[in-house]
Amino acid sequence: LALPGVQKLSPYVPGKPVEELAREFGLKPEDIVKLASNENPLGPAPSVLKAVQQALPELTRYPDGNGFTLKQALSERFGFELSMITLGNGSNDILELLGRAFASPGTEVVFSEHAFAVYPIVTQAVGATPVQVPARNWGHDLEAMAAAITPATRLVFIANPNNPTGTWFEQAEFEAFMARVPANVLVVLDEAYTEYVVADDALNGFDHIARCPNLIVCRTLSKAYGLAALRVGYCISHPQVADVLNRVRQPFNVNSLALAAAVAALADQAYLDESRKLNQQGMRQLEAGLTRLGLEWIPSRGNFIAVDVGQDAAPVYQGLLQAGVIVRPVAGYGMPHHLRVSVGLEHENQRFLEALAGVLGR
Ligand code: PMP
Repeated sequence: LALPGVQKLSPYVPGKPVEELAREFGLKPEDIVKLASNENPLGPAPSVLKAVQQALPELTRYPDGNGFTLKQALSERFGFELSMITLGNGSNDILELLGRAFASPGTEVVFSEHAFAVYPIVTQAVGATPVQVPARNWGHDLEAMAAAITPATRLVFIANPNNPTGTWFEQAEFEAFMARVPANVLVVLDEAYTEYVVADDALNGFDHIARCPNLIVCRTLSKAYGLAALRVGYCISHPQVADVLNRVRQPFNVNSLALAAAVAALADQAYLDESRKLNQQGMRQLEAGLTRLGLEWIPSRGNFIAVDVGQDAAPVYQGLLQAGVIVRPVAGYGMPHHLRVSVGLEHENQRFLEALAGVLGR
């Protein structure tokens, strides 16, 4: 029988695949708009496609198990020693390594209400006790989270911006929080969407690594860098934490195509700039469209927005599916009246807004 914590888990529910919906409703895949998984609507950069192609002849060989070239590229780009970098098969892999390395039965892991679904999964999978702290205005209540730390706490997961709410916290709030966290508690700052943040005074976890040896900053190449399919993420931490993660990870946790693509993606500033610009424009389009429909939405700094549809969101989600638009229900995140929609291309956002107007009869 599974561990008691595992018995209480429900499986992670990803966005509905286009092929599945096409089959279900007899739609053509090309007529379906998928805005369900916070993916980059730009498609892969030509520079990345070329790098992947060049890596293909090495398919029979194991990848570089230490990801030297990618770590080198990250080191050059962000200024951290190689010994502070851990690579993961997506940043989900990093989150899991953290759970496996630092949590165990009898220990506690703190995270917020309405936070990313993988935090309870990696906590309960190792038999640790999840401590979910009520949110404030849909976002993290960092004061309450600091207060929830006990002698049994090993890890605290915080996300900035958070998924699925898009909420954020300010630098000063974060600093006050870190000042209250005991040195033996690791804080995992999940910055999966940080590249989309445009505010000049926004918190950048990397600026706090040197001063906070118990801080781990996770990032991903899945979002603004457009590599979701390849699964590559990383974290920056004190070398001692990186050393521990390196002991528990799978020997070849990041594959060769992902390594090659990530190096190319990091070098392609134009693609990143374009992703950001497109996201800003699309976000404005969605905000304006939702407001026109008389709906409330949660201000977001990510590449997605959670909208309150003013009723049980399940039938609205179904109605959108029938119209060939896939978004994400977030009832599992304690948000039964919201749907989360990813920012797409202009025509995709438009399709979503029109379909939503139709379903809601507005
Ligand atoms: N953290 C957050 C907050 C996320 O929303 C996601 C993706 N949904 C991840 C981490 C994991 O992303 P990946 O494993 O693709 O790097």
